[in-house]
This record gives sequence, C-alpha cells and structure tokens, in this order.
Amino acid sequence: MTTRSETQTTLDHLLTEIEHRNPAQPEFHQAAHEVLETLAPVVAARPEYAEPGLIERLVEPERQVIFRVPWQDDQGRVRVNRGFRVEFNSALGPYKGGLRFHPSVNLGVIKFLGFEQIFKNALTGLGIGGGKGGSDFDPHGRSDAEVMRFCQSFMTELYRHIGEHTDVPAGDIGVGGREIGYLFGQYRRITNRWESGVLTGKGQGWGGSLIRPEATGYGNVLFAAAMLRERGEDLEGQTAVVSGSGNVAIYTIEKLTALGANAVTCSDSSGYVVDEKGIDLDLLKQIKEVERGRVDAYAERRGASARFVPGGRVWEVPADLALPSATQNELDENDAATLIRNGVKAVSEGANMPTTPEAVHLLQQAGVAFGPGKAANAGGVAVSALEMAQNHARTSWTAARVEEELADIMTSIHTTCHETAERYDAPGDYVTGANIAGFERVADAMLAQGVI
Ligand code: NDP
Repeated sequence: MTTRSETQTTLDHLLTEIEHRNPAQPEFHQAAHEVLETLAPVVAARPEYAEPGLIERLVEPERQVIFRVPWQDDQGRVRVNRGFRVEFNSALGPYKGGLRFHPSVNLGVIKFLGFEQIFKNALTGLGIGGGKGGSDFDPHGRSDAEVMRFCQSFMTELYRHIGEHTDVPAGDIGVGGREIGYLFGQYRRITNRWESGVLTGKGQGWGGSLIRPEATGYGNVLFAAAMLRERGEDLEGQTAVVSGSGNVAIYTIEKLTALGANAVTCSDSSGYVVDEKGIDLDLLKQIKEVERGRVDAYAERRGASARFVPGGRVWEVPADLALPSATQNELDENDAATLIRNGVKAVSEGANMPTTPEAVHLLQQAGVAFGPGKAANAGGVAVSALEMAQNHARTSWTAARVEEELADIMTSIHTTCHETAERYDAPGDYVTGANIAGFERVADAMLAQGVI
C-alpha cells in the first residue's frame, strides 16, 4: 500500500504535467491544484483510485469546442467574438454547467469552471456531468437587439453540441433570463423541436422552474447557516458582507435578510456600497435587474445610511460573515487578513473560486469556517437539475416544493462534506470534504464504465 506522501508526490508530478500540457491557463492550474492537493488521503486509502490513467482522464476534458461568433452591432458594424463549450465529464449524466459572457473569458477560465463543475454536480447527488461554456462578449452597454443578435449567432454554432440528453447549459456571469430566452428561441428555430430540457434558467411560463433564479444565493446562505450550526450559532443578528450585485448576490442578500441577518454591502466592478441599515433589496433589484445600472446609483437614491466607495472591496467592512458572490480571485490574502482582524466567523463562496489559495489557507488557519464554492453554491445547478426533471415530466412544481428540495440538498451536501472531512482526518475542513466526496462519486462511475 502506498503512503499518503508517496501518493502526494505522484499527484504533484501530475500537476506539473497539467501545467505543461495546458500552457497559459492559470485559472485551470489553480483549480486543478486546489482539488489534487487534497486527494492524497483517499487515493492512498483506496488503491483502485491509484489506477494509472484515472486522474489523468479526469483532468482532460472529454471534448472542447471553440468557435467564431460573428454579429452586427446597432451601427451595422460586424463584430467577432469567440465562443467556447468545454464538455468535461459525463460519467454521471449529461454535461451540465452555465454559459459566461464576460470580456475576461478564455479557454483556461472555462476549463477551470468546467473542472469545478464536475465535483459540484457530483456533490448534489443528482445525475449530471460537468461542463461550462461562454464567450468573451461583453453585454454591458449593449442594446437588447445587440444581445439578441449575439445570442442567436452563438446558438447557431452551439446547437449542434447540446441537447437534453447530451449537454444542458444554463446562465452564469452576463447570462440571465434575457439571454437564456434568446438562446432558447434560436435553438427551437434551428431544430424545430420544443426541447425544453436543453437549457435551464428559462422563464416561468415556458419551462423555467420556480426558485431557479434564487437557488444559488439561497443555497449558499443555507450552507453558511449549516456551518454556523456546527459551531452552535445561527444567522440571526449576524452582520454579513456580500460582494457582487448580480443574480447570486441579490438572492444571497434576500435569504440573509429573511433569516434575520443584516447584509450591509453589495458591489460591482466600479466599487462597493455599504448601507448600515441593511441593503434595500427593492431598490437594488430596480437598479440592477430593471435598469441594468451601476451600484453608485443605489447610494445616490438610498439616502444617508448608504455610501459608495469607488474601486474599494467589501472585505474592509467589519462583519461576522463574508459571502463572495462576484467572480474568481476577488478575495485575496490581504482581504482575508482584514476579515480575520475584524472577527469574521464564516466565509461561504457564492461565486466560483472567489478566494485565492493563500486566503483560504489563512482563513482555515485562523479557525474561520470556510465553505468552498463547489459545495456552497451548488444549489443553483441542483435546481437546474430539478428544472430538467420538471421539463421531462412536462409538469411544474410549486415554489414551496422546489425550496424544500433545495434545502434538503444543501443539508445533505453539508453533511457529506463534513463527514467526509472527518473520515479523512481533516475535521471541519470543508475543502477536503467537498473535493474527496465529489471525487469518490465521479471516480467510481468512471471506473465502472471502463477506459473511455
Ligand atoms: P451576474 O452577471 O448576475 O453578476 C455578476 C456580478 O459580479 C456583477 O455585480 C458584476 O459586476 C460582478 N463582477 C463580475 N466580474 C467582475 C470582475 N471581474 N470584477 C468585479 N466585479 C465583477 O453573475 P452571477 O451572479 O450569476 O454569478 C456570480 C458568480 O457566481 C460567478 O462566479 C458565477 O460563476 C457564480 N455562480 C453562479 C451561479 C448561478 O446560478 N448564476 C451558480 C453557481 C455559481 P459588473 O456588472 O460590474 O461586471
């Protein structure tokens, strides 16, 4: 039997190889490190996982598609963007994962997101594989007509790679209900099929699930509450800092408020708002979801309790809880040190990989409860899978039923991560628990299905 340290040496060699084989993809390297650096205990304990080729297959996407997306802006000028879909692993079910439209999108970013998605989807316990896609298109400042033409062009290539039994995209940064509507319309037009399970995050009334828009934020708050409960505390009366002001941030704030916590910040790429009375969600939703404006407008309209801090980061505001809900690597070592100095008790990731590895280490060393995104933000994809189930049965469930299922799934993910961490001598380490539990489920399915 190999020891943990021998196994770690093998995994370290593999990580070096991953960096050579995938040059200039720092986010993918970071995500691979984060997972492989925690797997030694399980690979050493279960010899079947050390089988040559298993982890090598896991880090290589099953399929990667890159395509041209030409479209015309409102002035008639032709623009060209790049589209991506990385179909990473389908051992547990059809590829499932969102589409991101943001200028920072490149192959490495999509691969990091797709890799994370494999383990996240496995943790939900539902039958979904891992994938991710998107484009370097920037929807900010674009008219509805421009966004529609872009989505139609994007789908004109993407449609041949997806399907309800093959690959089921959803939203992510820059892709919300409006974009999913345009994408679905073009898919339906090209294929002449009402295949509602091909995309999730659809509008209510044409196949969307109730609670899907809320699911990621609500789920993350439920995960944070479960971590606090382990320590004999609850959310009531806690002050929370939330970053971002998009889909995940808005419904994180909504659930925090409903459970008695005081969410005092939100942000976008221009800076952040701190509101000592707690964020007024009606105002934030009006500015962000209806007017598609910037967060400084919130401070202007809210009055004396709120102020806008241009270019600042929400982590400087003292709080009991921190819920990063914007983008990757938005909370670094300095931010973690500030949060710890201010007495933070828990950090729960609504965004994907928002906390740098150095910051995670610092938080864990300081005894802060840390919920990694692949566990804490899995509520979104879980309800997407419930949307697929409703589409398949041509039915729709009540909001209460979906919310109950979401709560059960988040409790079960928390328990799985917690118990797995204990089983592998890392009590309270949700990163190790999430990685190992997700890995075990995917690896078992891959081993059973042979070398493919
Ligand atoms: P949205 O597009 O709705 O909102 C994104 C928010 O983050 C905006 O406020 C945006 O500000 C801010 N943001 C994005 N990029 C940056 C950046 N580079 N610097 C500063 N701020 C930035 O996206 P979502 O809320 O859907 O997604 C947020 C995070 O949650 C992402 O990491 C996503 O992968 C993750 N996630 C989302 C799920 C979902 O169901 N939607 C599921 C699981 C995870 P601005 O408008 O100025 O760019």
